[in-house]
Amino acid sequence: MVDGPARSVGARPGAGSDFWLIGDREAQARELWCNTTKSAREIAQLLGCSKNAVLGKAYREDWGRRVEPRPKPEKRDPFRHLTGTSCRWPMGHPRDPDFRFCGDPALPNRPYCSRHTTIAVMHRRFEQIEHDD
Ligand SMILES: [Zn+2]
Repeated sequence: MVDGPARSVGARPGAGSDFWLIGDREAQARELWCNTTKSAREIAQLLGCSKNAVLGKAYREDWGRRVEPRPKPEKRDPFRHLTGTSCRWPMGHPRDPDFRFCGDPALPNRPYCSRHTTIAVMHRRFEQIEHDD
C-alpha cells in the first residue's frame, strides 16, 4: 500500500504564518495598514489573503492605531507680525496656542508700547516696595 501525498494542513492563504514569509507581504500589509486608509478587507484583497488574517496580524504584531489623514494644525509664529519697533509684551502664556506679543508701536528706546511700559514700571515699583519692607 502506497501512502498518498501528505495532506497539507493550514495551507489556506492567510491561515498560517508561512503566508507572511513570502515576499515582503508583512511589510506591505503593515505599510498599507499604518500609512493608508485602506480597510483590512482592501489590504487582504491586495495581498491575496483573508481580512481576518490581516486583522490578526495587525493585532498580534501590535501595528498600532491606523493613521487617519488629517490636516496639520497651522503653526503660529508669535514673532510673525513684530518689527524692530514693536512692543514685546507677552500676551498669554507661551504654552497657549494663541500666545503672541502685543505688537503695538513701542515707545522710543523702550521694548514696550506706552500701555505696557506703564504696567512694567508699576510691576517694578511693586517689587521694590516688597523688597524695601
Ligand atoms: Zn504693548
